[in-house]
Amino acid sequence: MRKHNYSAGPCILPQEVFEKSAQAILNFNNSGLSLLEISHRSKDFVAVMEEARALVLELLGLEGKGYQALFLGGGASLEFLMVPYNLMKENGKAAYLDTGTWASGAIKEAKYLGETVVVASSKEENYTHIPKNYTVPTDANYFHCTSNNTIFGTQMQEFPNLDIPTVCDMSSDIFSRQMDFSQFDLIYAGAQKNMGPAGTTLIVVKEEILGKTGRHIPSMLDYEKHIKADSMYNTPPVFPIYASLLTLQWLKKQGGIAAIEKINNAKAALLYAEIDRNPLFKGTVNPEDRSPMNACFLLENEAHAETFDALWKAVGISGLPGHRSVGGYRASMYNALPLESVKVLVDVMKDLENKI
Ligand SMILES: *Cc1c(COP(=O)(O)O)cnc(C)c1O
Repeated sequence: MRKHNYSAGPCILPQEVFEKSAQAILNFNNSGLSLLEISHRSKDFVAVMEEARALVLELLGLEGKGYQALFLGGGASLEFLMVPYNLMKENGKAAYLDTGTWASGAIKEAKYLGETVVVASSKEENYTHIPKNYTVPTDANYFHCTSNNTIFGTQMQEFPNLDIPTVCDMSSDIFSRQMDFSQFDLIYAGAQKNMGPAGTTLIVVKEEILGKTGRHIPSMLDYEKHIKADSMYNTPPVFPIYASLLTLQWLKKQGGIAAIEKINNAKAALLYAEIDRNPLFKGTVNPEDRSPMNACFLLENEAHAETFDALWKAVGISGLPGHRSVGGYRASMYNALPLESVKVLVDVMKDLENKI
């Protein structure tokens, strides 16, 4: 039996993605060869790369608007460094919003390259809300934010409207909700939260912001070199890119971001309503900043943990414990998690009331 997988990442993907990617490992496109043993420059794989890059722009509504999509290695964590390398001028500065562990990780890397201004931080309150009413220095080379805080379960609803490039780490909520994506000049996301398996990172960048730093950028860290090479400057992570393409195709078939957003909102509404109704549980973050992707909650009384843990394990739920820095529970409800799985979780939360 398939589990109800609430893992924060790597995470659940559509069942058809598992099946089709397994098939491609055995016999890719009926070629008599595995996807894992062919050249990345073969016609069949070049077609995968091109379709994946085009589908990203199509789903985000960014076609024909001067953006390029890249699938690179290194994880979102490497983008923490690549972003300042490509956008922070020599002796320039960058502005960052600190909304959690990943945002702090990005700030740490930017500091290696130059002056890094933290415009606001919710660290003192253990990242339980998204800071608002901050000002971004107009002389910064760019502003960086993290749209969804995977670990603490907060999500940004508003983004500042600036005259400088806006960069967003969307690792844990890309393709989950509709937005005007053209308000961002650079978006990046590790695949393993909402798009595919671990091993590739999506970068969507407006070409006109590149090439302005006066810095010497090492080749592998240079977005322009990757763009010029059609995202094949070196051997790309072929399997995670193929599985990401399958996920993007699945998303398009569901009706794209607009359709999946409705389901995501229904899942989140169902679970948060139970967290608020059930006297045995409490949410950990400011309600207006709650993330529909990662819902964090605690038991009011830790003594009930053993009973509750046994209940959810018995119904086939997996991946529910919270991050070690928050404790409690974290239900990650990425695109591929069915509404049915959330109903199962809500039922065991209700059941706990009868069991104690
Ligand atoms: C998981 C995560 C990262 C780190 O991703 P890696 O691919 O493991 O480097 C960065 N930012 C956010 C928001 C994340 O959720």
